[in-house]
Amino acid sequence: TLPRLPIFEAITRHDPNRTAVVHSLSGRSFTYGNLVQDVVDAKQRLRQESRGASLEGERIAFLIENSYDYVVTLLAVIANHGIAVPLSPAFPASELRYIIDQSQSMMLLSSSKFQSKAEDVVSGDLELKPIFNMIQKRLEGSANSTPVALEDCASTSAGMMLYTSGTTSRPKGVLLPLSALTAQCLSLLQAWNYSTTDRLLHVLPLHHIHGTVNALLTPLFAGSTTEFLFPFSVEAAWSRLAAPFLPVQTIDHQPKPALKPKITFFTVVPTIYNRLMLAHPELSEDLQKASREAISPKNLRLNISGSAALPTPTKAAWTELSGGNVLLERYGMTEVGMALSCGLDNSDRVDGSVGWPLPFVEARLVDSDTGEVICEGKEVDAQGRERLGEIQLRGPTVFKEYWRNPDATESEFTADEDGKGRWFKTGDVAVRRSVDGAGVGKSGDWARGKMFFIQGRKSADIIKTGGEKVSALEVEREMLSLPEVAECAVVALPSGNWGQKVAAVVVLSEKGKTGGRRGKGWGPMDMRRALKEKLANYKIPQEMRVVGHIPRNAMGKINKKELVKEIMDRQL
Ligand code: ATP
Ligand code: MG
Repeated sequence: TLPRLPIFEAITRHDPNRTAVVHSLSGRSFTYGNLVQDVVDAKQRLRQESRGASLEGERIAFLIENSYDYVVTLLAVIANHGIAVPLSPAFPASELRYIIDQSQSMMLLSSSKFQSKAEDVVSGDLELKPIFNMIQKRLEGSANSTPVALEDCASTSAGMMLYTSGTTSRPKGVLLPLSALTAQCLSLLQAWNYSTTDRLLHVLPLHHIHGTVNALLTPLFAGSTTEFLFPFSVEAAWSRLAAPFLPVQTIDHQPKPALKPKITFFTVVPTIYNRLMLAHPELSEDLQKASREAISPKNLRLNISGSAALPTPTKAAWTELSGGNVLLERYGMTEVGMALSCGLDNSDRVDGSVGWPLPFVEARLVDSDTGEVICEGKEVDAQGRERLGEIQLRGPTVFKEYWRNPDATESEFTADEDGKGRWFKTGDVAVRRSVDGAGVGKSGDWARGKMFFIQGRKSADIIKTGGEKVSALEVEREMLSLPEVAECAVVALPSGNWGQKVAAVVVLSEKGKTGGRRGKGWGPMDMRRALKEKLANYKIPQEMRVVGHIPRNAMGKINKKELVKEIMDRQL
């Protein structure tokens, strides 16, 4: 049996013959019938491994590659009312050890692929012997015939513990009760219309909210198919997307063309879209043609970008390459899941905007200087300037607490001002503005009114210079629209005169390498000249550093604190 929790009600209700999970590279495929049966078995096995100890509310860490085994393990932990702590196979042993210790995990489960890594991590720890290969007999392909009973349960302990990306400080353990995860999935189901005919190409890490909730749990709720492409490479992604559209003669060389239905749903971070487009011209002519067909609006129903700001040139280039498929940008975080999103209708995918609060999510902007809530109609100040406000969120999707960090939990929530609950202070700053033709309800009732435009993180992206506030994201957006700039990060450097000054770290494009005066590399003077028409003077970076590459974490994010430190260190 399985507990009567919404996720199990969903997966047992789906047609057992429908494909739930596919390993893209090997073509191995598992139905919802397989999944239900394997979760029941793995739930039992976990119980045996715990030797009678209750798993309720216990953290259970696992180190498993993106695969069917990951899905079964996650659901088996939840079926035992445990808290799943997925670890990243890409982390070094020290980072894994930190998370296992911080979460006080009771067990470490691992796939055989990571046997030595798992043993390494817990070496010397007698309590925590890793357990390998949760699934003993996999029922690949054949449908399940024995229906599984659902048992009423009173426990509300089950959930996941996900660690934040660590962009601003050491990753924090975010305790997400199953009720919050379920609300997040139901919200996305409603906004993005996941369906039984959707097939997702999954290329994201499975220890972050984007890869787990948006690209795995919500498809499971909907009865969609998730295809794991692991390990990810841009070449493999293009080949897979293109496979159903290759001319017949090339299909002869494909292993199982019949097993490669078209991908309808793709959700990744901006850097992956960039990498895909950079690699595209290198593909064979057949692949280029077939992959463009694959990502056309007719075939790829939905392409989504998030986790970091989507540069407008990236969005425009994808629209061009796909023949009109516009990226849908959304904004979210570990603590709340997805919070704001553009809409399914193309007119509701406005450049630079992350749209509206998703179903069940309540959002407001709060002026960081005065603490005043920026009400509807008050988005502009007396001087006609847009007011920046911190995004605060509440509703059933919000996390419970930072694990073993009551101070952080306390300081990141407001008091309950109106008896309707505390607000989570995201630390991200935005403005709201109305956009012609958007927000009139074409994408659903939630997508109405003024749209949110993210300006960046309060701690790193809102630069205070000479009494003005500059959004690093806005400057980055303008810089990225210059053909000389391939990548950039705008940061605040301390300044005697101005408090802070705007500085840019730039990776030059091919054009930029020779695009400066007298055929030299593009430099600070060129930058200032190019930005003059686009930005107010005080927003134009006063300093510019050219670098070979800008370090990013697995989700394509830049740790600006570290970047500033590097700039300062080199200056000394
Ligand atoms: P840490 O909290 O450890 O510093 P992190 O905030 O990067 O790391 P996540 O929870 O993975 O960890 O990321 C959420 C953050 O990512 C948001 O608070 C926001 O700053 C950023 N983000 C997500 N989507 C977008 C977007 N569409 N545009 C701009 N920023 C985004
Ligand atoms: Mg954060």
